[in-house]
Amino acid sequence: MFKEFKEFIAKGNVLDMAVGIIMGTAFTAIVNSVVEDLLMPIITGLTAGVDFSELNVNIAGAQLRFGNLINAIITFLIISLVMFSIVKAFNRNNKEENAEAESKDCPYCKTSIPVEATRCPHCTSELEGYHNEHTHAHNDRVTIVE
Ligand SMILES: [Zn+2]
Repeated sequence: MFKEFKEFIAKGNVLDMAVGIIMGTAFTAIVNSVVEDLLMPIITGLTAGVDFSELNVNIAGAQLRFGNLINAIITFLIISLVMFSIVKAFNRNNKEENAEAESKDCPYCKTSIPVEATRCPHCTSELEGYHNEHTHAHNDRVTIVE
């Protein structure tokens, strides 16, 4: 348990995670402000002075403040949209990086080896016939018939 925790911290994932959480919190504050301070006044103006956050219904003595719910839903939609854009951009970046990779993973021992390798230096497995697409496109092999 402790060893696992130590490895977890050593990997640097904790730092990434902390940065992510702090960024997320700061980002949420900005989105909240955009919704409450910019968007809602505009909507209030368009709906002839109906302030969403003031909207509520009294049913059997219970006050249902559904205006706040509408605010939360709008905030959620904006955050989803932005997160979707970020993830999409990130995936595109990742793909480009992978295409330019100079190493590949040996299919047998899963260690990182040069793209050009035809035999794994770690487990000595024959890698003939195993190329990634990138190698294949740029390095058409000459077959020597013995
Ligand atoms: Zn190997």
